[in-house]
Amino acid sequence: MQDSDVIVIGSGIGGLCTASLLARYGKRVIVCESHTIAGGAAHSFRRRGFEFDSGPSFYCGLGDVQSLNPIKQVLDILSESIQVISYDPLGHYHFPEGSLTVYRDVELYYQQIAKITPQGASEFQQFTERLLGLYEAMKGIPTLALRADWQVVLVLLRRYPLSLVKMLPYLSLVQVAAGDVMDATVQDPWVRRLIDLECFLLSGLKAHGTIAPEIAFMLGERSRAKIDYPVGGSGAIVQALVRGLKRWGGQLRLGCHIEQILVESGKVVGVKSRQGEVFKAPLVISNASIWDTYNQLLHPDDLPASYRKVALETPAVDSFMHLHLGIRATGLENLTGHHVVIHDSSQDITVAGNTCMISIPSVWDATLAPEGHHVLHAYTLEPYAGWERGDGYEGKKRQKAESLYRALERIIPNIRERVVLELIGTPLTHAHYLRRYQGTYGPAIAAGKGMFPSTHTPIQGLYRVGDSTMPGIGVPAVAASGILCANTLVERSKTAELLESLGI
Ligand SMILES: Cc1cc2nc3c(=O)[nH]c(=O)nc-3n(C[C@H](O)[C@H](O)[C@H](O)COP(=O)(O)OP(=O)(O)OC[C@H]3O[C@@H](n4cnc5c(N)ncnc54)[C@H](O)[C@@H]3O)c2cc1C
Repeated sequence: MQDSDVIVIGSGIGGLCTASLLARYGKRVIVCESHTIAGGAAHSFRRRGFEFDSGPSFYCGLGDVQSLNPIKQVLDILSESIQVISYDPLGHYHFPEGSLTVYRDVELYYQQIAKITPQGASEFQQFTERLLGLYEAMKGIPTLALRADWQVVLVLLRRYPLSLVKMLPYLSLVQVAAGDVMDATVQDPWVRRLIDLECFLLSGLKAHGTIAPEIAFMLGERSRAKIDYPVGGSGAIVQALVRGLKRWGGQLRLGCHIEQILVESGKVVGVKSRQGEVFKAPLVISNASIWDTYNQLLHPDDLPASYRKVALETPAVDSFMHLHLGIRATGLENLTGHHVVIHDSSQDITVAGNTCMISIPSVWDATLAPEGHHVLHAYTLEPYAGWERGDGYEGKKRQKAESLYRALERIIPNIRERVVLELIGTPLTHAHYLRRYQGTYGPAIAAGKGMFPSTHTPIQGLYRVGDSTMPGIGVPAVAASGILCANTLVERSKTAELLESLGI
């Protein structure tokens, strides 16, 4: 039996940011991670000399001095840093009718769009400018200052009154969908599809399902901060957070699957691992998904029945097919790192297999692959339902990987001849290694139809962080969820000390 102030279940970016920040605040923290590798969706894994990102590989502002990226703010406060490589253009969108290069400089991006649709480009400019206004207003308030209780009002009024005033003209945009801004500014069908795609890549939902501040933040960060990739892969971010956690006295237990959150008289008292170990603490923070936390880790009677029912009915974005490849690099000197391929314009971009994301991070960091090779990750949405291990599994896996191979052929025509290592992942693989309910990307909470739940739960001492809490899905968002939770658990003056040490 081990005692501490806080137990964090899960070492995803959300869990690690919460845990390391609480350790920085002086709390005794233990993180229990089920997998033997930390990082959740952002973990890296190694096979035969290839270092693969299991999920994310698109980042902004990891290396900028005064970054708005919540991860960078957490790393700064932990006195940790990571080496990064900046690059531009950030990627290429390949539609059946042609390709579009995405530059961080908005003017260059408008020029690219104008080559396809001049009218659409000027409409896109109006859409972007409206949202960049919101971003400019938001950026005066650092995420590190925020908390998830009423005291946030005091923090904002006392520390950032001018930024609050700047926000006033944009208040109407804070709760609306990016799709509403699009309806008011963009008629061009091609640009509307482009905006839907940009939203889908971010939130898993199209423009009418994605909240405007999320896309405003993405457009703003993309043009303001550097687009960068961590040397060593996504795992380097995870390692920096783990170093920070340990530097400030926190502990990480790998291979420690939590089976139960222990609740007595409506209060959390600790957790119990699959091996039977009990960790006692008055605060437990779950980084597992909303479905996993409420269905697997708690007894049904621990929660009010109606609350539990509504929470478990949260709709989920689909899971994924993954293709992790090691390929021969000869003759690919001009290869770039990010591509999105849309196979069929007559089909919705959200249809499984139609939109394929591709990252080749060894074009920036050659150490990720053996000499003369590249490491590559391609993925596309795939529903979890219908997948089971059995006789047909291998065949179905190969058949479903075809859309990813076809997408790759748009970038590297002879890709199949180059493969030296092939790993195909299905929704079952995703659910297994990421310990996620149905291998989902996260909650499908559409703008206007609901909000991501806060860090609080009805059980005293139990909190949640990660992509099924506010503000939502994505590495910066889950880092922000960790900040919101950690700050809520300490006095305002403690956060003020940290902010002053960073001068923000
Ligand atoms: C394919 C893919 C590509 C992506 N690309 C990008 C991108 O380019 N940029 C970007 O910003 N975002 C991207 N994202 C989204 C981003 O990676 C996620 O939103 C984010 O990493 C989720 O972090 P999290 O902390 O919420 O949860 P997770 O990463 O899911 O972490 C939860 C952790 O909890 C652990 N856990 C669960 N249950 C238990 C238990 N019972 N006991 C102990 N441990 C447990 C899990 O093992 C896991 O480590 C991508 C996601 C995917 C899947």
